[in-house]
Amino acid sequence: MAPVADKARAEAERRPGTGTAVGAKLEEGRLHLVGLELVRVLLPLRKAWVSEAGSFSQRDSLLVRAIVRLISPAGGVDESEGWGECAALPEPTYSAEYTAGAVEVSERYILPALLGADVARAEDVAPALSSLKGHRMAKAAFEAALLDAGLRCAGVRMADFLAGLSDTGRKPRESVMAGVAVGLPRSLPELLDEVAERVGEGYRRVKLKITPGWDEEPVAAVRRQWPELMLFADANGSYAALPFPEAVARLGRLDGYALACLEQPLGDDDLTGHARLAPQLATPLCLDEPLTSLASVATALDIGACSVVNLKAGRLGGLLEAVRAHDLCAKRKVPVWCGGMVETGVGRAANLALAALPNFSLPGDLSASGRFFEKDVTAPLGVSSDGTILLPAVPGSGAVVDGEGLEAFSAWRRWWPARSR
Ligand code: MG
Repeated sequence: MAPVADKARAEAERRPGTGTAVGAKLEEGRLHLVGLELVRVLLPLRKAWVSEAGSFSQRDSLLVRAIVRLISPAGGVDESEGWGECAALPEPTYSAEYTAGAVEVSERYILPALLGADVARAEDVAPALSSLKGHRMAKAAFEAALLDAGLRCAGVRMADFLAGLSDTGRKPRESVMAGVAVGLPRSLPELLDEVAERVGEGYRRVKLKITPGWDEEPVAAVRRQWPELMLFADANGSYAALPFPEAVARLGRLDGYALACLEQPLGDDDLTGHARLAPQLATPLCLDEPLTSLASVATALDIGACSVVNLKAGRLGGLLEAVRAHDLCAKRKVPVWCGGMVETGVGRAANLALAALPNFSLPGDLSASGRFFEKDVTAPLGVSSDGTILLPAVPGSGAVVDGEGLEAFSAWRRWWPARSR
């Protein structure tokens, strides 16, 4: 029998970016890299973010700016910039990646590799970096920036391009259901106040962070007050600290509250534990942290470790791998949703384009810019009164970087020119 990874690849992988009608201009033209820039931003949060996967009061984020030039067969030249965001958190508390580490690996390894190979196309990023282990979020930021820049040159929206790559053969949604995550609060009244505020802002889906000792009581209280609200609970692996039977017993108590899914109760490395847990709960299990590739998504589904999948392009190493994982889940009729990493408007725009794919059937962590930031480095994204976020009509991801905001929140910028020809 073929190994799981091979099976998954056979099911879902093909070279992205080829043969797609929406990418025709990009395919026909010659794309050149002008240069790549790292921008470190420190964006204050309205309120400190607290979860088992990390706590911080400012978003220390690494942005990548790419400038590419597209030369058409007739000799026409288009030049555009594109942006990507590294999803790594300021500290290695969600995964091993963290912002300062992403800067280090970018400058020491990723930039020399991409510039050395003259990589200008998004689909060439992963092959050019294949000898570098891990650091998927850093790699994904470069892929996103080059994809955004190329699509802006070609006049193609990122959502249309990603949908064109997808095997589902369907157009992207024009609006995506918003969702919001609520961190670990200091008290039950604080939690209820925050959920009330979010519901008042139009969110129809709320994700609560839970941890042993802060689980049934807050979930029950929120459910009592909002019987119809779509609720997720995310443990960020915190039940791994308990003996397995105790984790089963505690988590089983959440079955009575109609959670749409229970996310990552056990450890990042414990797929078999999740597979043992899943049949003992009525609540569908969802995985987040361990799903770092198409192959790991396939393995998790094969062994029954989850029945819902949280897709994050950064964690998977890029938007293109996320489309492949989306397609695999669509074939297996497994619903997916788009997770968030408290991104600035740069990462949020790419998440929106990804979440417009048809099998993102559950609302993700896609919230308005104002949810976390007073002022963003991009024009703000807003939630409509029907609880959705409209897809931008412009090419690329649609993120409109605000020069003033970027200037105000940039700690530094470093430009790396392409090799001279
Ligand atoms: Mg999570």
